[in-house]
Amino acid sequence: MTAISRFKALEREYGHKPVHVDHSHDKNLTFYACNVFDRQKMAKFLPESVFKQVQRTMDEGKRIDRELADHVANAMKEWALQLGVTHYTHWFQPLTDQSAEKHDSFFTLDHGMPVESFDGKVLAQQEPDASSFPNGGIRNTFEARGYTAWDCTSPAFVIGSTLCIPTIFVSYTGEALDYKTPLLRALNAIDKQATAVCRYFLPDTKKVIATLGWEQEYFLIDEALFDARPDLISCGRTLMGHNSAKNQQLDDHYFGSIPERVVEFMADLEVECHKLGIPVRTRHNEVAPGQFECAPIFEEANLAVDHNMLLMDLMMKIARRHNFRILLHEKPFAEVNGSGKHNNWSLAADGRVNLLSPGKDHDSNLMFLTFLVNVIKAVYNHQDLLRASIMTAGNEHRLGASEAPPAIVSVFLGAHLSRILALLKEKTADGKILDAAAKRSINLDIEQIPEILLDNTDRNRTSPFAFTGNRFEFRAVGSSANCACPLIVLNTIVAGQLEQFKNELDAALSSGANRDETILKILGNYTSEFYPILFEGNNYSDDWKAEAARRGLSNVTSCPESISAYTLDSTVKLFEAQKVLSERELSARQDIYAENYHKKIHIESLVIANLALNHIIPTAIRYQNLLAENYHNTKGLGFDDLIENRLDTIKTISKLILVIKTDVANMSEARNKASHSADNLQKALEYHNSVKPFLSSIRKSIDALEMIIDDEMWPLPKYREMLFCH
Ligand code: ADP
Ligand code: MG
Repeated sequence: MTAISRFKALEREYGHKPVHVDHSHDKNLTFYACNVFDRQKMAKFLPESVFKQVQRTMDEGKRIDRELADHVANAMKEWALQLGVTHYTHWFQPLTDQSAEKHDSFFTLDHGMPVESFDGKVLAQQEPDASSFPNGGIRNTFEARGYTAWDCTSPAFVIGSTLCIPTIFVSYTGEALDYKTPLLRALNAIDKQATAVCRYFLPDTKKVIATLGWEQEYFLIDEALFDARPDLISCGRTLMGHNSAKNQQLDDHYFGSIPERVVEFMADLEVECHKLGIPVRTRHNEVAPGQFECAPIFEEANLAVDHNMLLMDLMMKIARRHNFRILLHEKPFAEVNGSGKHNNWSLAADGRVNLLSPGKDHDSNLMFLTFLVNVIKAVYNHQDLLRASIMTAGNEHRLGASEAPPAIVSVFLGAHLSRILALLKEKTADGKILDAAAKRSINLDIEQIPEILLDNTDRNRTSPFAFTGNRFEFRAVGSSANCACPLIVLNTIVAGQLEQFKNELDAALSSGANRDETILKILGNYTSEFYPILFEGNNYSDDWKAEAARRGLSNVTSCPESISAYTLDSTVKLFEAQKVLSERELSARQDIYAENYHKKIHIESLVIANLALNHIIPTAIRYQNLLAENYHNTKGLGFDDLIENRLDTIKTISKLILVIKTDVANMSEARNKASHSADNLQKALEYHNSVKPFLSSIRKSIDALEMIIDDEMWPLPKYREMLFCH
């Protein structure tokens, strides 16, 4: 592990000035989505009748046949060639942390003559030699092939000289090997179930889509300092580093003025995002020094997921132009705020009506309450699964600690909605018949929802799942996550819940019950059931942990334990019923996440051992020698009593060195033991329980040494140097 020295890095850092990228030629908004093969481009490059046919097929969610695909491929190629494109790739999202691509050239030989070729066949399907992507055993069977297949619901785009075609990635048996396949299935499920429920209120409803507006948090660090930190290079987070004297105590970074180097980066990023049709709009400093956020206008969920994946990719590339590196890790710096990716989620009927937005009259508010209550019920019933969908080795640092959204899933509603649900619960308790007075009080309150919410600015920044007026904000998602992962779960659990609600309602209606009364009654029953999950207080407090335990809410802070929720009976039953993932696909996923977990801890443990033995201990010994030399040279000069504490320091250093060496040896033994585990989940548990604790204990000793040793000798950039951009 070679890294540049700290002082060289600092020198390089000071040389880094703001990099201005001239985008003046793109000044007006005409470049928005210029690199996207969207409907307008399709209309321009396809014959009119073919264009109409393609639109119809896409809108109805049907398959595009080979002949149509040929037309689209040809139009895509013509458009792309104008932009100087030479290659194309199927762009997909395997179960790793990144998107994947394999580039092929348009160039081919036709009877020895060079031609540019791209047809419906290669547009629609490819067989990338992608055998080393994680598959959880699905591809170990006799046929190991994996296919990518065109997802025509997300438009193709151009990056550099490559045409990128969004695709799904499945095994030859049709089993999902990626995030996108189950996401599309989950979006279908929510469409089907939500449309059915929506029709009680809006009988003409044709389609319900899920919407997603993500907020991406990230850290920026100077590339020279990054290069001098082997832990950042290999693990994405600092495995050691004493806290800087000043970090976020004064909250002076949050929404503060953005440093010029960063402004230039952000401006550059925005232009590149807009060219790809990613509608980013806000940018600001976040709570921690060096931390920032960007957020787009919300979009249909599948497209929003693609756009977030693209954004993460773009950020990395563009940061380099500005001599920065992006840290997407959930907890790059200990004792400094971590990074999340808030997923703002809602449902929209026929692209117009937000189903989580209160309406203007009784009926639309009853619809609003119906969806609101069903979402909360789904979250309550599947709290363990929802947590599993956001648990990773990185996010474990947030969810397990008491600063970011905790591992306890709770729902925040704000005072007024809480009151309405309390009323609903009370008036329908114990199978109470809604008498005239009860009906009046509930109805009155339903009528008043919109006015009340208008001036209801309640926000709870500690809640993992908060209602924010017309959407839910799932705040516990990790900054490096693929949003598809939580969205698969969220949409599926809500779809299952809506189906159950419809069944209950239909059963009552068929025996002649009154519609509105029955709906209120069912919603009241649900509310009584999920009531313990509603929480308006501070989610970070220890009191809440105790209170949540009393309420019977689960609190799982370990990633390996949490992901076992993927194979709970309730999960399998639901996912199979909604046709999102089969039992085999679910257990493959669990296996992959477990493997990812233990591999990450494994790498971290190797890196910290290496740094401890090869960087830190040698430095400590050198400094110790210096002290010893000084002690000998000064002894006998007449003030021996004053230099005695030199010996104490030498002793402290020796002790710390010994503790580190012992910890490293024991950690290595724990790793060996863990490697004999029966399977990936077991191994992940072993790594969590017996290897991970050494990471903190070794760090503690190293951080103590950092406070003792001469600053001139310390080999790694310090927190105060990394956290503040100059
Ligand atoms: P805050 O910081 O208070 O959470 P922001 O304005 O930063 O608020 O973020 C709001 C996010 O919510 C934006 O990304 C926006 O696109 C998204 N959003 C707004 N309405 C919807 C909706 N109906 N569905 C999904 N996302 C939405
Ligand atoms: Mg937010």
